[in-house]
Amino acid sequence: MILAGKQAVITGSNSGIGLGIARELAKVGADIVLNSFTNNDEDHALADALADEFNVKARYISADMSKGSACRALIEQAGACDILVNNAGIQHVAAIDEFPSDKWDAIIAINMSSAFHTTAAALPVMRASGWGRVINIASAHGLTASPFKSAYVTAKHGVVGLTKVTALETAEENITANAICPGYVLTPLVEAQIPDTMEKYGMDRETVIREVLLERQPSKAFATVEQLGGTCVYLASDAAAQMTGTTLSIDGGWTAL
Ligand code: NAD
Repeated sequence: MILAGKQAVITGSNSGIGLGIARELAKVGADIVLNSFTNNDEDHALADALADEFNVKARYISADMSKGSACRALIEQAGACDILVNNAGIQHVAAIDEFPSDKWDAIIAINMSSAFHTTAAALPVMRASGWGRVINIASAHGLTASPFKSAYVTAKHGVVGLTKVTALETAEENITANAICPGYVLTPLVEAQIPDTMEKYGMDRETVIREVLLERQPSKAFATVEQLGGTCVYLASDAAAQMTGTTLSIDGGWTAL
């Protein structure tokens, strides 16, 4: 129970990677604040289930990560924030000259600016307790690019930059900041891209997975939410106390190519 007594705030954590990270952190004793922009019974039930299963404190706080004030209010409402995982994210795929500007604004706000606002609100809380971990979920697209993902690639490169600046500004304060750069993980965000890709290339689902999604992953396998959660446990542990300002690629070899 290496994280007993610590509270983790995970943005965008009522599904996919965020929920997987919450489970792995709870497994080793962290209290959990789940978040998304919705506020329904299922969201609160997810937190209750975590509390029951892992015998930790867990609650759900609704806050729309597209709004700076809501990002800061999330941290304020959470109270303690020992571990901040900036995970909320959305995707839209279109050529630059056809990219809807409202989608661009939303992706930049949710995938990138939210991490700035939550970090700005969390650092004073971490400084007050003398310990903190900022973990930003970037992407292989934070280190490389793909056509038709201009907003996503821009936001994720920005997250990697923000991570480095956060690390430098906190280096002497027992606070670390690192980014995790996953390749493809089969979550709702990725599932949503499959039907359009099937139609665009006239491929079946299995071919899209093998020849489009996993084309750049030499391992030819998806990363899992458990693997990403385990990496967060490592980054929050004493073993990673001198690791700051780095990016950890969990991408089956994508960025080694
Ligand atoms: P997902 O769609 O399952 O999860 C996204 C989460 O963000 C959800 O909980 C959703 O409710 C939340 N969210 C969306 N808009 C929000 C808003 N305005 N306010 C608060 N929360 C909001 O997708 P995922 O794949 O689990 O993605 C999680 C993160 O991982 C994202 O930042 C994504 O870019 C990143 N990522 C995913 C992959 C992948 O292959 N799945 C790869 C690399 C990086």
